[in-house]
Amino acid sequence: MFNRRAPLLETQCFLCGGCSPEITLLCEPCWHDLQSESFTCDRCGCDILHEGICSQCLPGPSTIDGTVTLLPYQFPATRLLLSLKYKNQLLLARELGRRLAEKILALSTRLPDRIVPVPLHPTRLISRGYNQAIEISRAVSTRLAIPMDCHSARRIRHTAPQFSLGPAERRRNIRGAFQISNPDLTGTVAIVDDIVTTGHTAHELARQLKTSGVTDVRLWACAHAGKASIS
Ligand SMILES: [Zn+2]
Ligand SMILES: [Zn+2]
Repeated sequence: MFNRRAPLLETQCFLCGGCSPEITLLCEPCWHDLQSESFTCDRCGCDILHEGICSQCLPGPSTIDGTVTLLPYQFPATRLLLSLKYKNQLLLARELGRRLAEKILALSTRLPDRIVPVPLHPTRLISRGYNQAIEISRAVSTRLAIPMDCHSARRIRHTAPQFSLGPAERRRNIRGAFQISNPDLTGTVAIVDDIVTTGHTAHELARQLKTSGVTDVRLWACAHAGKASIS
């Protein structure tokens, strides 16, 4: 019996176990089932009931100028995302990154100058062995022909996971967690992450990128778990 959590072949669907030469980790019926009918805010990526921008983003400009997410944060998409994050299923990063890039291409918006994966603190990087945001970024970077920049932003504080904290503690937890080490950083950036949990992490990284001279920051993520936007 095959192990559905660890496909041996890229031609086997990670979710249903079906095999075909056309499959690259996800068969089309399973991919179709993952899609959501709901809308997400163009600015912050939270779930909304209509196309456009949510009520919290309407009042004015935000640190993040636009968000593209690939999947709703719900089962069975969560199975893919958590397998990638915690179970070394790095092939999923390539597949999700490729599909995220295809979605961005379909939007026909101007592409940024560089991709900055959300950095992990070195302590967490050592314990996990990889940064899933970098693995996703690699696929996005290749498909869109945009350079990936893993060196300009560093995580200098080892913070508690955002999901483990209450709403009031999240902003304080992540404040000052990043350092921009490239003083010449300019132009436009897309931050890439796997799951946007609260939005505070990407928001803080975007804030520091803009303080350093970046003029426009987009957020590209596989999923957004939050219901409310961060302004
Ligand atoms: Zn399938
Ligand atoms: Zn919004």
